[in-house]
Amino acid sequence: MVSAKRIIARAVFGHRYDRVPWGQRVYVRPGERYAREAQWWLRLRRAPVLSLEEYQARVPLGEIEEFISCHLCGESRQQPLFRPAAQKDNGKTRWSYRVVRCPSCGFLYRNPNVRPERLGDLYATNYSGFLTGSYAQNRQRRYRLTMSAFSPVFDDGTGRRLLDFGCGAGLFLELAEQRGFDACGVDLSPDSVAEANRRLTKARAYFGAPEDVEEVARGGFDAITLWSVLAHLPRPLDDFTRFRGLLGPGGVLLILTVNAGSLLLKAYGSAWSGFTKNHLMFYSAKTLPVLLRRTGFAGVAFAPFFGDTVEEGTTRLSPAYARRLRRTVIASDGGNMMRALAFADEEAIARWGSGLAVQRL
Ligand SMILES: [Zn+2]
Repeated sequence: MVSAKRIIARAVFGHRYDRVPWGQRVYVRPGERYAREAQWWLRLRRAPVLSLEEYQARVPLGEIEEFISCHLCGESRQQPLFRPAAQKDNGKTRWSYRVVRCPSCGFLYRNPNVRPERLGDLYATNYSGFLTGSYAQNRQRRYRLTMSAFSPVFDDGTGRRLLDFGCGAGLFLELAEQRGFDACGVDLSPDSVAEANRRLTKARAYFGAPEDVEEVARGGFDAITLWSVLAHLPRPLDDFTRFRGLLGPGGVLLILTVNAGSLLLKAYGSAWSGFTKNHLMFYSAKTLPVLLRRTGFAGVAFAPFFGDTVEEGTTRLSPAYARRLRRTVIASDGGNMMRALAFADEEAIARWGSGLAVQRL
């Protein structure tokens, strides 16, 4: 069945954009971003704002879940917005959850959330299938492109200590050691840590929390990296306070996460690619600075995300469409992923901030 939206799009744009992938159409079709912003504004106008008690009365609570208030500002009122879900082949629900918006600060988060002590239940699946082949190559390409976006911060690691938090099978640690960093990582999956240590020559991966590992706990890091980790953290204030403490003078924290300010979220709602099974909280360029300010960071800079193939120059988009995509990303949301560099202190801003649009916190 052809949806009404598709008929409207056909009437407005014809077949011109049929071969542009879904994830890029919103950025390439002229004027679409204004329509999506209007759609978002309407959605927020229509969604009710409930007290936590009202919300709890309406929503069932799973065994490993808990109701929470906004972790960024403490606001307890809830604005229910989305119900992401995935179906099995037989039509039964594989997983689903609810995403609310904080009516005070605009933060998007899963509510009910997952109780931290039950996080392990989310990661029962064996991830070793992800370690090789095109998955690994695509991951490492994204790491390289992100480091380039903040060049020269990650160009030369000689004499510098780096911690990769949530290092998985060591795909980033491998690049970090190649660039000369004295690198180590921590992860909560013992299988991944074992695989990482097989892969690495100088860098080391450890199982457990940072405070459990002596080499990590002594701190003094020049850089900490969070590759697709932030959205998985159920207690972000605690974790970021710890990261700030582990950074030495002049230290930086690199974050890559899904962008809750993305036009694609505004366009696709519950079907947005950032609402994956294990994501708990969704940050934007408005809400991430709140977390950083509250945990003692001095500044932050963002690098717009145009997509890996566009940045690498291998996109199938025509040059004119690729230019339009870049312009729309810069003028609107910063892209579907968010890339941020947080500065521990003034020394870090002085050392690495030139050439970046540093926002002081
Ligand atoms: Zn809030």
